[in-house]
Amino acid sequence: MKVFYSDHFVLPLPEGHRFPMVKYSMLRERVAQDGICGQGELRTPRAVTDEEILRAHSPDYLKRVVSGTLTDKEVRRIGFPWSEKMVERSRRASGGTLGACLAALDEGFAANLAGGTHHAFSDRGEGYCVFNDSAIAARAVQAAGLVERVVIINTDVHQGNGTAAILHGDPTVFTFSVHGAKNFPFCKEESDLDAPLPDGAGDTAFLATLERGLETALDAANASLAIYLAGADPFEGDRLGRLSVTKSGLAERDRIVLETCRERKIPVAITMAGGYASEVVDTVDVHLQSIHRAADLLESAADRSKETHRT
Ligand SMILES: [Zn+2]
Repeated sequence: MKVFYSDHFVLPLPEGHRFPMVKYSMLRERVAQDGICGQGELRTPRAVTDEEILRAHSPDYLKRVVSGTLTDKEVRRIGFPWSEKMVERSRRASGGTLGACLAALDEGFAANLAGGTHHAFSDRGEGYCVFNDSAIAARAVQAAGLVERVVIINTDVHQGNGTAAILHGDPTVFTFSVHGAKNFPFCKEESDLDAPLPDGAGDTAFLATLERGLETALDAANASLAIYLAGADPFEGDRLGRLSVTKSGLAERDRIVLETCRERKIPVAITMAGGYASEVVDTVDVHLQSIHRAADLLESAADRSKETHRT
């Protein structure tokens, strides 16, 4: 399976910063160790261009991000100190989602070991999100004439508020978000379909809500590409999550999303979104099981097609 990584574009953070930057390189190392990618399939994405970013963001915001002229308040809202490296990393992370979308359209599944920066709005960033990779990638594949309709499936514990706002009123991209009702962002936006959950929901309620919402979303979306935000923060050991979903519950989430899309012949690009477990290795485990599930499904599809050719 093709997997895109950008963890070597390091974003310099002050000592003690709470963002778990190390999860990205740990995840890439485990993806490499586990043999998920064939020769040349673990790839560095290109940076998205200004033209691509401007399909999702305002010219003024892009200009101020690139030139480092955001106000202190805007920088605080993003949560990262501004640097040229921050801009480059944000472009690469969006490039990873675009690369995963293009690879998924060819092969069924692909992943970006970053992205899911769903709190970025057209004219501002927040919650560690600078550019909205989902909106940028969806509109890039549409502009290339590869797909007409896209569905964005947010299962990160935080609502995809920036994604919902950017794509609000765009009938060609359906936004679905299952998230913690009482969690950040405290002022929610309106997705095409929102499925808020109470604190401490647990596996059963989380999965039942996801399954129901997913069917409704896919029926309404009529999409030929899905972008799946497989956030690790619904996990019970997450410091910010509060949804009390177990690792096996999250593995079941991946199975439901990926198998349902496959049954409907919808290619899926997986992105990482959040994950703030007390032990970073737990976050990495949760992300890795999403990647494994997709790779296993790809492999079983390849085996089946070999069978068909033989008989
Ligand atoms: Zn999150």
